[in-house]
Amino acid sequence: MSESMFFYKLFQNSAIPQVVVNKDMDLILTNNQMFQSLHMEIRDVSYRSFGEAFHCKILESGRCRCGEKTDCINCDLRNMARQILHNERVSDNVIQYSFTHGNQSISKWFQLIGSQITWFNEEYAVLSFVDLTGLHRQVDELKALLTLDHATGTMNKASLMAALKDLAETEKNAGSVTVCMIDFDHFKLLNDRYGHLMGDKVLEVFSDISRSHIRKNDLLGRFGGEEFIFIFFETDQRQSLQILKRIHNELEAFFADTVEIPVTFSAGVIHVAPDDKILQCTDLLMNVDQMLYRAKKHGRGRAMCNMGEIVFRNFENEREFIEN
Ligand code: GH3
Ligand code: MG
Ligand code: MG
Repeated sequence: MSESMFFYKLFQNSAIPQVVVNKDMDLILTNNQMFQSLHMEIRDVSYRSFGEAFHCKILESGRCRCGEKTDCINCDLRNMARQILHNERVSDNVIQYSFTHGNQSISKWFQLIGSQITWFNEEYAVLSFVDLTGLHRQVDELKALLTLDHATGTMNKASLMAALKDLAETEKNAGSVTVCMIDFDHFKLLNDRYGHLMGDKVLEVFSDISRSHIRKNDLLGRFGGEEFIFIFFETDQRQSLQILKRIHNELEAFFADTVEIPVTFSAGVIHVAPDDKILQCTDLLMNVDQMLYRAKKHGRGRAMCNMGEIVFRNFENEREFIEN
């Protein structure tokens, strides 16, 4: 076997996905692992430029020639390859690359490592895609373990407090923000009558329902036992009270047939407008706690804010179910 054939086989059978590109960013060679890792077909790469082979969305939509704009993550991939080819410094060579395979959408993380070779006076770059997807998943899982409450999947107290601190001490709340503290009503009674497991189930269902009612950038964390805090961004008091009411009513209806004690909560709501003096985290918590206390005092099953209150459920028969 000739020496060049040996090195070609070495490249083809490398365990790391690799491609060779020329100065014009045309794909010259693609190894087997690359085809497997990115679910590519020969027709995806033959006679294709680097940008085309890597499904540059901008190119596909015909808006511009690939690589001329960098608002597409796949163009970032191309630009990074070009920097490596031109011996330019690459600050962060870890990229997320997304593609579709059949009707499946796949996202992978790669560290891109490049080296240059010269062959018959032409320069080429060998680009190696070190797959970090598994590692990334582990990091995400570890992050979740550190920041989430295991029982409910909401933020744990440490990350909730960090978010509140961030909110109060930085200028992040340039827009308006609403903080709501909720506490379940007569939860001890529910535990006593139906057992601790039923209490746990209520907290789980509450968290699931809440997540389906809040926006992606809103926050929900467990402040303590059966107390939770919502942080709504760009949401005024009236809207916040309505969101809480929807969550409350869905939760109450969920347990209406299983539990005779109405499953309800009370809430304190504080709104911080953009031009309000930014509160310290402790002041924010004290104010919202006071509102919650007032909601409890006014009869539970309601949310209280400085504008007034919204009643979720009227406890006319409160005595009845407590004494029975
Ligand atoms: P109130 O309407 O005044 O809030 O009455 P309450 O009975 O809910 O009183 P309080 O808020 O002081 O009591 C909270 C109870 O919630 C006490 C505790 O046993 C229960 N609790 C706290 N965390 C959990 C939990 O994770 N699971 C269950 N099942 N119960 C919990
Ligand atoms: Mg409590
Ligand atoms: Mg309670």
